[in-house]
Amino acid sequence: MDYDLIVIGAGIAGLSAAALLANDGYRVLVLEAHIEPGGCASSYQRKRPNGDQYIFDVGATVFAGFRLGGAHHWLGQKLGLSWPIQPLNPAMEVWLPDLRVTRWGDERWREERQRLCPSQAWEAEQFWREQEQLAEVAWRFAGRMPPIPPESLADLGRLASTIRPEMLHLLPALPRTVKHVLDQYKVDDRRMRAFIDGQLLISAQSTNAECAWLYGAVALDLARIGTYYVEGGAWNLAKTLEQSLLKAGGEIRYRQKVSQIQTDRGQIVGVQTEQGERLRARHVIANTTMWDLADLLDQAPSWLLRHRIEAVPQGWGATTLYLGIDEAAIPQGLAEHHQIIADYAQALGEANSVFISLHPAADRSRAPQGQRAMTVSTHTNVSRWWHWRQTDPARYRAEKAAMAERMLDTVELALPTIRQHLRYQQIGTPVSFARYTQRKRGMVGGLPQWRSISGLLSLGPQAAKINGLWLVGDSTFPGQSTAAVTQSAIQVYQKIRRAAR
Ligand SMILES: Cc1cc2nc3c(=O)[nH]c(=O)nc-3n(C[C@H](O)[C@H](O)[C@H](O)COP(=O)(O)OP(=O)(O)OC[C@H]3O[C@@H](n4cnc5c(N)ncnc54)[C@H](O)[C@@H]3O)c2cc1C
Repeated sequence: MDYDLIVIGAGIAGLSAAALLANDGYRVLVLEAHIEPGGCASSYQRKRPNGDQYIFDVGATVFAGFRLGGAHHWLGQKLGLSWPIQPLNPAMEVWLPDLRVTRWGDERWREERQRLCPSQAWEAEQFWREQEQLAEVAWRFAGRMPPIPPESLADLGRLASTIRPEMLHLLPALPRTVKHVLDQYKVDDRRMRAFIDGQLLISAQSTNAECAWLYGAVALDLARIGTYYVEGGAWNLAKTLEQSLLKAGGEIRYRQKVSQIQTDRGQIVGVQTEQGERLRARHVIANTTMWDLADLLDQAPSWLLRHRIEAVPQGWGATTLYLGIDEAAIPQGLAEHHQIIADYAQALGEANSVFISLHPAADRSRAPQGQRAMTVSTHTNVSRWWHWRQTDPARYRAEKAAMAERMLDTVELALPTIRQHLRYQQIGTPVSFARYTQRKRGMVGGLPQWRSISGLLSLGPQAAKINGLWLVGDSTFPGQSTAAVTQSAIQVYQKIRRAAR
């Protein structure tokens, strides 16, 4: 056997699992297709001919899970890591067409939220209180690292040991959507619903009509549990994990794309790389989407995997703008992160809603003197981009340019002079995400958190039903975000360790 464990992908999930197992003495190899770690939570450096240098975050920019009970915190304690983070407060500002709301991470949020819908203030407050109570119980439960979904009798036993009487409160939430609860409290205010939809879209990939209430309650709580900036750019999260892996004797190889996962009669054998190298291991951890896992297998995917892919044949993609801008474009005292919704009458995404991230002014490593590096993203339908790219490259280029203009129009609502202060501009589409993160068709953010596939009904790490093959990342429980995928890695770590006993 070449290795105890091969990890396909140096995203946050893959690196977390790899670092944990290397720390316990496993012979670990990570194979990463790209030249840097971090995947959707990475950064890239751009050097201009005039000497200007920027570090742009490719996707993730706001991070949680570093406080007690959070997955990054758990991992940091276990591996003795010192995370390069700075707390953010507020977490973000949300710009609605007729109101700007600040997502404070402290008690100021209670007052602030009353401005959202004064005509139904009492009803809305009932909604928020239920949301917070539910989230509190759910966070405590998540902190006990329950094996969800249970995939064996042993998992059921461990899951039972994480259950507490307070969790009775969670039961009525299970069959509900966020909409059910808004309807129950008779909150039909357009502004409040748009606010909630905007927040759910970026944290649960779905909106109030379909989003599972339990997941939604937790997703709406992110600002309150503490958000953070990663110093020097998001990639330093992954680089911290990489250092821990290497220190423990693990190995990582870049520019190594795995082209096949090899199995024999329901048992993992190893992987084959695009360069044709075959490597054997007792365990393989796939830090991929469920769609890619199915494609990589040398046998037909399990019923469970096929069924889930049929239920969710397509997820969201993102279009991103990476901008170098003069600080003069940034109004004094502006927060670092902003969600902007331009028009209530139009669907979210496709530049009608954008997410803006600036690095804190104090971090001088990210842009030349007097400038800032900025990432802007919007949800987008991946199919159109691939269609244009494959059938009409000129149209693809024209659509890219048009999307950049529409995104800038929306950004202008918060930074009115931005167009006069652009020093650098680059756009990313789902085609770019597919190229740099290997995610099928550039689909990002994991699966939408619908009731039928959320929480206990999420995909588990053994969804492929092959002995020794594990899936981590945002297709599995608990879903998207660096904290969530770290939790998925911790779950796999615990299962592999227990199986070895
Ligand atoms: C625009 C955008 C904004 C986001 N904002 C936030 C945010 O603010 N906060 C937050 O917490 N989360 C955010 N997210 C979500 C978060 O980034 C992801 O959920 C998380 O980083 C996914 O991590 P992962 O380890 O599961 O997978 P990925 O990040 O997809 O990493 C997988 C890695 O595996 C490699 N790989 C895949 N297949 C192969 C193969 N066959 N061979 C070799 N290597 C392979 C890839 O190159 C990649 O490096 C955002 C995502 C996007 C796209």
